[in-house]
Amino acid sequence: MTATRCSAAILARPRAAVTVTAVEIKAPGPGEVLVRMEACGLCHSDLFIAGLDKLPLAPLTLGHEGIGRVEAVGAGVSDWAEGDRAGITFLGTTCGVCDWCLTGRRRFCPDQANFGYTLQGALARYVVGPAAALVRVPEDVEASVAAPLCCAGWTAMGALREAGLQPGQSLALFGVGGLGHLALEIARVQGLRVSVVDVSEEKLELARSLGAEIALSGAETGRELQKEYGGMDAAIVFTGAPAAVPQAFRALKRNATLVLVGVSRNPYELPLAETVTRGIVIRGSYLGTHQDLEEAFRLLRAGAIHPHVHEHTLAETPALLEQMRRGSLAGRAVIAF
Ligand SMILES: [Zn+2]
Ligand SMILES: [Zn+2]
Repeated sequence: MTATRCSAAILARPRAAVTVTAVEIKAPGPGEVLVRMEACGLCHSDLFIAGLDKLPLAPLTLGHEGIGRVEAVGAGVSDWAEGDRAGITFLGTTCGVCDWCLTGRRRFCPDQANFGYTLQGALARYVVGPAAALVRVPEDVEASVAAPLCCAGWTAMGALREAGLQPGQSLALFGVGGLGHLALEIARVQGLRVSVVDVSEEKLELARSLGAEIALSGAETGRELQKEYGGMDAAIVFTGAPAAVPQAFRALKRNATLVLVGVSRNPYELPLAETVTRGIVIRGSYLGTHQDLEEAFRLLRAGAIHPHVHEHTLAETPALLEQMRRGSLAGRAVIAF
């Protein structure tokens, strides 16, 4: 590699507009790897980070859903070599010694680094990051199709596991964007009966084509799922819109599980009496386990899931993020390098 600079989608400072700017390509330091990116998906968390009042790192390259190939390794790196296929997720390094790290829950480590947040992200032609933070990616998957698995697919898989359903049980998904449409496909593979709720007719149409039994929009979707369809064994809220949470709650059967995935800085409100007397389980779900990510790649290779991706150039990133903010992107927008 002879280039010394490459384009990256960056935030120059907190709450700045995202711009595509030339940044310096660093040589990998000890324990680090230089990755030449093939593709990186755009995630709602990129928008969330772009809206924060404070950033741990600025200027910051966004992006945490990428696939590339190792171009060079730094001193002391023995488990990665030039040419290896590597995935970049939101989860970077963790401390390795806390209770969470030692019990298969690294993603909850209080001392974690995150790509596109505390580490420079993957929305750039070249990325330097800790070797320990990379994940293995199969050779026989197309980068732009597989990239969404590194965040959206992984998170969807983790949320479904947290929902704890058996084949034949009913599940409602609130929000059928990048995560929701993958969760729908995975849930169908698992033999679940899936309902979806979204405000976009285009997304509902996609959901129907992917096997959703019921696809609803409107202000009373929770009541509708409860009264007309008998209630749900679990609901997963992928949208960060707080109004979706009470609707999802309203849709639940007794002893059902409500899984919260989409983030925003707003509070949400739920009825205390019904939570208690109906024995509702409410849990937050963040990313997934290592096995969840491997399972997502396995399903892709087996042809069981088909991420709906639209390929774009890096220069389109600011406009695409704006479209995502308005909720008008169906499937996943992926930057192909
Ligand atoms: Zn993400
Ligand atoms: Zn830890």
